[in-house]
Amino acid sequence: MKTVKGTRDLLPEDTYLFQQIEQRAWDHFAKYGFREIRTPIFEETSLFLRGIGDDTDIVTKEMYRFKDKGERDITLRPELTASVCRAVIQHNLVGAEDILRLMYSGPMFRYERPQAGRYRQFYQFGVEVFGSQDPLVDVETIEALMSFIAPFKLPNLELMLNSVGDETDRPAYLKYLRQTLNSKRELLCSDCQNRIDNNVLRVLDCKQSNCQSHLQDLQPISDFWSKENRDHFESVCSGLKRLDIPFKINPRLVRGLDYYTKTAFELVSGDLGAQSAVMGGGRYDRLIETLGGKDMPAFGWALGLDRLASLWSTYADPEPGPDLFLIFGQRQWLDTALPWIASLRRAGVSVAYDIRVRSFKSQMKRANRENASWAGIIGEDEHDQQTVALKNMQSSEQKSCKRSDVAATIKNKEIPC
Ligand code: ATP
Ligand code: MG
Repeated sequence: MKTVKGTRDLLPEDTYLFQQIEQRAWDHFAKYGFREIRTPIFEETSLFLRGIGDDTDIVTKEMYRFKDKGERDITLRPELTASVCRAVIQHNLVGAEDILRLMYSGPMFRYERPQAGRYRQFYQFGVEVFGSQDPLVDVETIEALMSFIAPFKLPNLELMLNSVGDETDRPAYLKYLRQTLNSKRELLCSDCQNRIDNNVLRVLDCKQSNCQSHLQDLQPISDFWSKENRDHFESVCSGLKRLDIPFKINPRLVRGLDYYTKTAFELVSGDLGAQSAVMGGGRYDRLIETLGGKDMPAFGWALGLDRLASLWSTYADPEPGPDLFLIFGQRQWLDTALPWIASLRRAGVSVAYDIRVRSFKSQMKRANRENASWAGIIGEDEHDQQTVALKNMQSSEQKSCKRSDVAATIKNKEIPC
């Protein structure tokens, strides 16, 4: 038996990276006032039809959709923004003047063609901010992302920024695009030919280089921006500059859905090949209303953990080994040492040993291989006197230590005289 196509097991070396990323994320975003939300893995299909849009790739091609035993039309979540909005409406989470900040992490499901960096079950960490149109929200939430990413020290990451306008200026741009692209229809791929009729903005981010070559002389959306949307974009840009956050304006960057408004952005990496986007996000001032809630502006983004972990794996420090690896002269000395080992673990020391108690040499080898900070050798004398010969694996310094002093010694990182 093997995993289903497009899914994979995350083995301990993978989950170590995922855990590190998630733990850093929970701690970092909590400082900005984000609190975690967990919504169900599956929802009524209609939520995603309304919340993601009929003409998107996700809805037309990628949904894991099925009937359950009660004949309900169910879909495994392909992303979380729609679910989070449903929860905000269902529990009336935003009061009149409040700003609500939510974060999440978990698996998403899309029936895509599997390839490197593209899975049918993948993981996202994301944030959503509800209740304010202020460009400061865009700036602060992007800054939070960039200061989260910085310590991973990934080279070749670029923040791309654009504005997709809103209902006041976008219709004129869509009309312009439809007219201009209709005249080149036969030159474009069949997906783009469909997009001209259904979701014309998405033609702009077609991945085919042939299509891209025919888009070169199109006017950018910025030529059509309303005064208000131009001001909003300029406030976001100047806010980011004030915070020394480098970004590139990309007039082709779009989010293809009607409820996306104003700011759209992506983090792309030169090291990810074809799947270059590490995260995507933007403002979606119309979504809550589209889903039956009140008129409520919102902003959010989602980070692909699989892609971040794969980028980081080259640079991450190796997983730390146990604090202490115990080496025994005889198997029965391990049995008598067990209560002491339990007390060490209760005191916060991680302890490993070879349960088969093979030769001294092979136990020492394993202490090295497991990257233990200390080796604790229990030979005849140490067993008789209830001590341990404690060896600092880095400095090779070795001293005899009372067993009751071991936890403190390891925590203080030095052997007492
Ligand atoms: P792409 O253009 O790569 O298909 P997308 O626009 O569909 O991305 P979003 O819906 O914005 O992606 O999701 C945000 C992030 O989630 C992406 O930038 C990516 O890192 C990650 N992601 C999306 N789909 C997958 C997938 N099938 N496998 C792994 N990661 C994914
Ligand atoms: Mg996609």
